[in-house]
Amino acid sequence: MILFKKAESLSHYLKTVKQDGKTTGFVPTMGALHAGHLSLLKEAKKLASLTVCSIFVNPTQFNNADDFSNYPITLEQDIEHLVRAGCDVLFLPPVAEIYPAAYQAPVYPLGYLENVLEGIYRPGHFQGVCQVVDRLLQIVDPGVLLLGQKDFQQCQVIARLLKITGRNNTQLSVAPTIRESDGLAMSSRNLRLNKSQREKATALYQALTEAKEALHTHTPEQVSSRAKQNLEQKGFRVDYFAICDAATLLPATDHSKKLIALVAAYLDNIRLIDNLPLN
Ligand code: AMP
Repeated sequence: MILFKKAESLSHYLKTVKQDGKTTGFVPTMGALHAGHLSLLKEAKKLASLTVCSIFVNPTQFNNADDFSNYPITLEQDIEHLVRAGCDVLFLPPVAEIYPAAYQAPVYPLGYLENVLEGIYRPGHFQGVCQVVDRLLQIVDPGVLLLGQKDFQQCQVIARLLKITGRNNTQLSVAPTIRESDGLAMSSRNLRLNKSQREKATALYQALTEAKEALHTHTPEQVSSRAKQNLEQKGFRVDYFAICDAATLLPATDHSKKLIALVAAYLDNIRLIDNLPLN
């Protein structure tokens, strides 16, 4: 695996590699890698001949300073995982490579997508995500961009970003959520859970699977308010438990459409998100 810290060196290297006919699959991450990240890399290896992974904890997407300063960093272990998984290139930029002094943050026209669900509770978050992904795509210019369904709304935001920025040569591929054996969606933030929080955290996936069942006999509103209540009784502070049209992320009205349940909730100061397609 070749490690790059400079954007220009990486771009230059990838240009020469592409001239040799290789295609690139790109997995952007914030590190503290787990099997979910590695599943994206595995998928990238199927879809492209050269895999690039980035690790960059992007300051502009954190709307909570504590969340940023407590974000887990496990770099040595990450590098070992990547080497073992056969990653070809790791991009590990310092902040100034992504946001040089002359950088002016664009405002991305994301429309209502940034005003629903995560957008309501994490103002500015998706603009920050677009800033970093836009910069990374400028540098890597991949043939395939791999994202996880775990961050369902983020996938839609990035699909929009690709349109806005006219990146027709980059295909978006979304991979399924990898879970622990008790159903908890893998997440770097799980590292921050203590034993008792970790035991409670599995209730999120239970709530999603129960919602899927309950939707056969109850309305989306009934199902989501019951799920929210249940989670609160178990000690979560729930930002939202929503049943939405999977194509638009607007509240579900029509059962014949593809629906998805999405949840964001805190255990103490640790915010977890998850989702489950329903039909
Ligand atoms: P992060 O490091 O949290 O920014 O995530 C980097 C990428 O990994 C994003 O595309 C995430 O959606 C994806 N990802 C995170 N957790 C999982 C998971 N449990 N299963 C599959 N993909 C995931």
